[in-house]
Amino acid sequence: MLKKVVNISKIYTWETSKNSLEVKKNHEILIKNDKIIKISKKIDDFTNDTIDAKQCIVTPGFIDSHTHPIFFGNRSDEFHKRLNGFSYEKIKKTGGGILSSIKKLRRASFEELYLNSLKNIKPFIKYGTTTLEAKSGYGLTLEDEIKSLEVIKKINNELELDILPTFLGAHAVPQELKTSEYVEKICNDMIPEIAEKKLAIFCDVFCEDGYFNIDESRKILNTAKSYGLIPRVHADEFKYFGASELAVEVSAISADHLMVINEDGIRALSNSNTVATLLPGTTFFLNKDKYANGRKLIDGGCSVALATDFNPGTCTIRSMPNIIFLAMQNCGMSLAESFLAVTYNAAKSLNISHMSGLINEGYNADILIWDLEDLKEIPYWYDSADTKIFKVIKNGNEVN
Ligand SMILES: [Zn+2]
Repeated sequence: MLKKVVNISKIYTWETSKNSLEVKKNHEILIKNDKIIKISKKIDDFTNDTIDAKQCIVTPGFIDSHTHPIFFGNRSDEFHKRLNGFSYEKIKKTGGGILSSIKKLRRASFEELYLNSLKNIKPFIKYGTTTLEAKSGYGLTLEDEIKSLEVIKKINNELELDILPTFLGAHAVPQELKTSEYVEKICNDMIPEIAEKKLAIFCDVFCEDGYFNIDESRKILNTAKSYGLIPRVHADEFKYFGASELAVEVSAISADHLMVINEDGIRALSNSNTVATLLPGTTFFLNKDKYANGRKLIDGGCSVALATDFNPGTCTIRSMPNIIFLAMQNCGMSLAESFLAVTYNAAKSLNISHMSGLINEGYNADILIWDLEDLKEIPYWYDSADTKIFKVIKNGNEVN
């Protein structure tokens, strides 16, 4: 099946050979099944299936490389507690925070969790996200982690967007176990079974003071690797203790958060293939003043991606245009750098940059058509991007 996108004013994509933003004016795109097969000024191949872009601009679909959308209920009470002076740590100590999400998820049936998570994930599409990484991590028992990953699998089969699953058993230590016991469980029971069932591509660890230390994180990630899962790390969010260096040591594909990374961490990341993923939505949602320093990371030679960190406790933002706005305003990133961070670099952090994140021949036909004249309008309309996206094309099909 051939399909043509015509009447495009500008196509924005990243030119990897020049490492710069490329703008193609008045080009057409030819799609065969789910792939882009030709981009040129005039495409002569005949097809009855034509999409008129009405002189709008085109970008690749966004890739959101860090989300926690598999949860039940919500934690709006915490937002109000925080405004009354409770810290995230204090909320956690009094049974709130992540522990409350764990309680709710364990009680929910598969069907309940599925319906709730479907509601969480569906709106990503209207904001232009065509590929999503989704983590488990609110179950913390073998059974509940598998339940979460099975929900991801079911939603991935049903919704048009692609969802890449991450096992995040090491999100927190469940109250009923000591950290050492839980690490044993993750390594001996959970990783082998999840790998065997092929329910995850990645394995993530919350490597942070009070959660999993360097040695525990190393053990989990090396075990995951031996079972064919690709490591990623929640690193340097609250307190610097070398989590980025660990990410590089275990060849993690991404180190995420990085609000408190130092020179050693930046040096380690810049000399590696580990992508530095920044989540400014969380800093905004928690009303903190210290955003990750994207400028310093990029100047230090790191590949930087941006993601939403959508989750029930610390960020309910799903819109990547909103994240671009926050990164430009608070992380010192330019429009071109932010564009790269939500397309090609995000694809790198998910091991799919050979087929996703660019408007290129041979790439997935994941295309956004915007009712805008210029790329710079995307962050400007940060809270209404859904109204500015004229069409979302995923794997060659119009989905919104
Ligand atoms: Zn996270």
